[in-house]
Amino acid sequence: MDSLQQLKKIQEALPENGVLMPLFFIGHGSPMNGIEDNLFSRGWKEAVRHLPAPRAVLVISAHWLTRGSFITAMDKPRTIHDFGGFPEALYQVQYAAPGDPVLAQETMKLVKATKLEADHEWGLDHGTWSVVRHMYPNANIPVLQLSIDYAKEAQWHYQLAEDLFELRKRGVLIIGSGNMVHNLRMVAWDKLNETNYGFDWAHQINDKMKTYIREGTHENLIQYQKMGKEALLAIPTPDHYYPLLYILGLQKGQEAVEFFNDQAVGGSLTMTSVKIG
Ligand code: ZN
Repeated sequence: MDSLQQLKKIQEALPENGVLMPLFFIGHGSPMNGIEDNLFSRGWKEAVRHLPAPRAVLVISAHWLTRGSFITAMDKPRTIHDFGGFPEALYQVQYAAPGDPVLAQETMKLVKATKLEADHEWGLDHGTWSVVRHMYPNANIPVLQLSIDYAKEAQWHYQLAEDLFELRKRGVLIIGSGNMVHNLRMVAWDKLNETNYGFDWAHQINDKMKTYIREGTHENLIQYQKMGKEALLAIPTPDHYYPLLYILGLQKGQEAVEFFNDQAVGGSLTMTSVKIG
């Protein structure tokens, strides 16, 4: 075997370069989805079933709002039970996935839009673990979180996401965890168990968002305040919406878009989830 052949063989043995990990926006809904085997949790499990095992999972969760930008950088992130009034079983959940301090440092170098800082206090909030424990029940894949700087506008979040693009080539699965339609004040609590129960405005704006996502007209989604009164009902505060903008900001050109778990809950929530790539 000459040296050129040898080199070729070595290259073939290396993992494929330039393969992009897909992206997910996940509608996470109630924390109870974290322990229930239901339509939504089964959808999350199914979404990653045929994917290669990622090097790590990086989640932008609606439940970590900060001033400034942070990435979890500890070896062992704790499981945070950031909710009240739920059954004891939910507080018992420990999702002991490791962190990845090296990846946190890599990410800090990639981000140019802001000074991304290492965090050693947070951990995995329910926006992350309620979803990821269904995807990777063995907790053997490192999981990190990136915070949402809540002082910043929609456009800023979309642009910050572009700085994370390189991670997709490095085997990192990036997930935005929120809800496209999320108005807790208007929830019809008596209809929670009615399948796909959504108010007209909720279905309308959810469909409109899906159309813009499918078309790739992201500017409409960034300027969500201009999407009409339904959008103002769907997004009374942008915490559960911004994670979607991260995933869109990470999309490259005309990558395939698929929707799943596309259902309304309690009138004013939608669980619609998106796979890109
Ligand atoms: Zn939430």
